[in-house]
Amino acid sequence: MNVITNHMPTDELQRLDAAHHMHPFTDGADLAKTGARVITGADGVTLTDSNGHKILDAMSGLWCVNIGYGRRELAEAASRQMMELPYYNTFFQTTHVPAIALASKLAELAPRDLNHVFYAGGGSEANDTNIRLVRHYWMQKGQPERNIIISRKNAYHGSTLGGGSLGGMSGMQTQGVPVIPGIHHIDQPDWWSEGGDMSPHDFGLERARQLEKAIEELGAHRVAAFIAEPVQGAGGVIVPPDSYWPEIQRICDEHGILLIADEVICGFGRTGHWFGSQHYDIRPHIMTIAKGLSSGYAPIGGSLVCDEVAEVVNGAGDFNHGYTYSGHPVACAVALENLRILEEEKIIDRVAAETAPYLAEKWQGLTDHPLVGEAKIVGMMGSIALTPHKDSRAAFAAEAGTVGLHCRTRCFANGLVMRHVGDRMIIAPPLVITKDEIDTLIERAVTSLDETYDLIRAEGLYKVG
Ligand SMILES: *Cc1c(COP(=O)(O)O)cnc(C)c1O
Repeated sequence: MNVITNHMPTDELQRLDAAHHMHPFTDGADLAKTGARVITGADGVTLTDSNGHKILDAMSGLWCVNIGYGRRELAEAASRQMMELPYYNTFFQTTHVPAIALASKLAELAPRDLNHVFYAGGGSEANDTNIRLVRHYWMQKGQPERNIIISRKNAYHGSTLGGGSLGGMSGMQTQGVPVIPGIHHIDQPDWWSEGGDMSPHDFGLERARQLEKAIEELGAHRVAAFIAEPVQGAGGVIVPPDSYWPEIQRICDEHGILLIADEVICGFGRTGHWFGSQHYDIRPHIMTIAKGLSSGYAPIGGSLVCDEVAEVVNGAGDFNHGYTYSGHPVACAVALENLRILEEEKIIDRVAAETAPYLAEKWQGLTDHPLVGEAKIVGMMGSIALTPHKDSRAAFAAEAGTVGLHCRTRCFANGLVMRHVGDRMIIAPPLVITKDEIDTLIERAVTSLDETYDLIRAEGLYKVG
């Protein structure tokens, strides 16, 4: 048997990785040149790489390790479940205890009448389910022509053909998606980049009313649903103006279309509430969940579905849809233990009352830095916009993302994972991050911004595009 240990030299691991492992969202040629960073362990909010460097993970992996790394309880829950029942499916009138226990717990935690869960392996699969679910629903209601789903540009809803078609990220749209017909994209509520001379309030209303315009143009009788993330995550932690969501809710209500909140990032405490929909006081018919559901310890996602939609679908014979790992018992057991920890340790309450306000104050302080235009933050997800000219919100002359990438590289060198989306820097640290660790995060961010500033001035990149 081949045993690949942590003790192999880093360059040998990197060589094997580049030779045999195709990475998601990665430039393969670049990777082969520089070698991937090899992460070997983690505890709390801190990663260790194969060279023994300690790195503060201000991205919770990929927005998912909400309870932090190294919780034995989850490993033990997985091990117990593997010994008892490692796998059984939930097709054809069968079930098992972990799937039941997690479904009823989710129904208890979810707002209003979102009392039903359809399990998936992650967020992308869950959004694929949602496409079929809402179309099937309207078919059963005698309105088969109601099959268009409205989404937004620069949204992220996953990487499957369904999720990728719903999403609106320009980098994905030229690589094999969209392929699903009947998906229509409206503009995003990104005031910093697209707000022009409008006030954030007016801009938020204008962007929300694009939904109404689209419904009128397409014909209300043809629109099945609107899908959106409460706060766009992968798009750059785009926090919408306060005027945006109430107007979206009004439009969905008046035109009788289903609202799908993609809570894959915003769910499970990220905003300081259990769900982002509660932060914005919106009333979705379906919520997409994944990531923080298991804090990333096991792959699991799903659709939380309201009574009305579930009753129609359940009353319509077989729903010919499902994944081999829908409601995987080990993943369900791990998720359940994760929810127990979030709840019993009052982690979300502490975020709302203590650490999120503390982080928000420090984060907003970053706008004192010469490179930082706006700083936005909701709960434990934040972004800063880098700019050569704050008043005009100008972009850099260099290709979008050049300065952001420099900054990300400096962050890594300074022991901090911050991601860049174009020239926005984003964070979503584990919800268990302490005030001391927040201080460290901010110190390292400032050092990295200083170094980026010096570097781009030296390279002649500090100029308006
Ligand atoms: C990550 C993400 C997804 C996709 O989830 P996967 O588990 O990667 O399939 C979908 N929607 C949003 C908002 C996400 O952030």
